[in-house]
Amino acid sequence: MWAPVELLIRFEYHLHKFMFTDSHCHLSYPSLKENISEIRKAMKDAKVERALCICTTLEEFQDVHQLALTYDNFWCTVGVHPDNEKVQEPDIDDLVRRAKLERVVGIGETGLDYYRLGERTLKEMEWQRERFRVHIRAAGLTGKPLVIHTRNASNDTISILKEEIAVAATKGKNVRGVFHCFTETQEVARAALDLGFYISFSGVITFKNAADIREVARFIPLDRLLIETDSPYLSPMPYRGKTNNPSYVPFVAKQLAEIRLESLDTIALATSRNFEQLFTEVST
Ligand SMILES: [Zn+2]
Ligand SMILES: [Zn+2]
Repeated sequence: MWAPVELLIRFEYHLHKFMFTDSHCHLSYPSLKENISEIRKAMKDAKVERALCICTTLEEFQDVHQLALTYDNFWCTVGVHPDNEKVQEPDIDDLVRRAKLERVVGIGETGLDYYRLGERTLKEMEWQRERFRVHIRAAGLTGKPLVIHTRNASNDTISILKEEIAVAATKGKNVRGVFHCFTETQEVARAALDLGFYISFSGVITFKNAADIREVARFIPLDRLLIETDSPYLSPMPYRGKTNNPSYVPFVAKQLAEIRLESLDTIALATSRNFEQLFTEVST
């Protein structure tokens, strides 16, 4: 196809200039917060342009929010992680109030995690399901996207989401979001995509034993794909086992590019654009 040379050059230049977005990290955790200036320098060197700081307890919110208020390429969410017990329990009003604060662009991370059941039965995890519903309702009321964590609980996660989305729809509310650190099956991915959700991959896809997840990542539509570090956890290869930070997110993009037979620029551009599409406030 013919195109003016100047245009082509400009297009290429734009692509190569394009940078990465870490859609999920925990920079308020002490191991990262203490090194924030080194991390920000490493991000710049690795062309990681933006990061979303994820909240996991209300106790932590102020710290997470402060990061987003301090640095113009950080934003944050508000929510209580399903694994966190004996912490302040969020109610809808509280989540809505905090979600409306400056630079708070999403609700979460929230969802279900049955991995640490211990002696408990699934029935005894009703508190987790109730907490998840509270977050979904807050997302409906504010229009802010959900950041969803699901582990060993995909059936309940999808069915509760479906129920709540249907209820929200009767009130004219729309619920959107992302399944973060995706490690589920193709069926779960399909169900999430059908609900209009995005799918975010972490360093897990670079692990040797993650062939199944790489297979799932191959078929996710390019316009629904996000990348993340989930730092300080889950460092991608070749840093597996070390403390993770947002400057490693290009390794996730590189792995996606390889398995999807797309260029690194394509992945960088698409995942950054998708981030803006989902968290609309980051581009305003
Ligand atoms: Zn998570
Ligand atoms: Zn997380």
